Amino acid sequence: MRLIIATKNKNKFKEIKDILKDLPIEVIYLGEINKNFKIKEDGKSFFDNALKKAMVVSKFYPEDFVVGEDSGIEVDYLNKRPGIFSARYAGLNATDIENNLKLLNEINGVAKSKRKAHYRCYLVLVKGGKLVNKFFGSWSGYINDKLVGKNGFGYDPIFYLPLYKKTAAQLTLEEKNRISHRAKAFRKLKGYLSNNFLKKTFS
Ligand code: IMP
Repeated sequence: MRLIIATKNKNKFKEIKDILKDLPIEVIYLGEINKNFKIKEDGKSFFDNALKKAMVVSKFYPEDFVVGEDSGIEVDYLNKRPGIFSARYAGLNATDIENNLKLLNEINGVAKSKRKAHYRCYLVLVKGGKLVNKFFGSWSGYINDKLVGKNGFGYDPIFYLPLYKKTAAQLTLEEKNRISHRAKAFRKLKGYLSNNFLKKTFS
């Protein structure tokens, strides 16, 4: 049994591989497949985009389980923006730092208590071009007023967690993987796979 994660994002896959490490199945991502998949992320929701990613890949690998993952950050003060546009908030080829700076600029001067934000992670499990199941995880924090920390990726340097008094970019991979939106969603997927397709139970 093989699980293909339909993402080209190396940082995301690093987290996913660690979350799924005790599953007795091969887990690979698109960076390890010598094929240039053309995936258009033009859906209207995280779920739509996750499904699009998985379906394109499943067409070529009908025997494998394919996981489509779409995630992003929603800021309350910005009426849930950037949401599905998180990766390209500051432009099509924007870097993480450019996206962070744009977001900081947009909420410059807004009181700490009004800077609440939520990471969302939507997963779809697909086999043979058919949706098998879907999973969701979210993680709440506040937008910091500057970038702090070197770990993680994306908006982690400005995602502040009052409980830890740290940004997500100050957490180790293991710490982030205990509490993140992605960890919550993938743990549900893991439970589902082990209950339905594997002999031993993993969660
Ligand atoms: P996707 O690869 O199209 O799903 O884009 C997801 C984007 O959302 C990333 O490029 C990041 O900007 C943001 N994002 C999603 N998950 C995380 C996370 O765990 N940390 C930081 N940023 C994230």
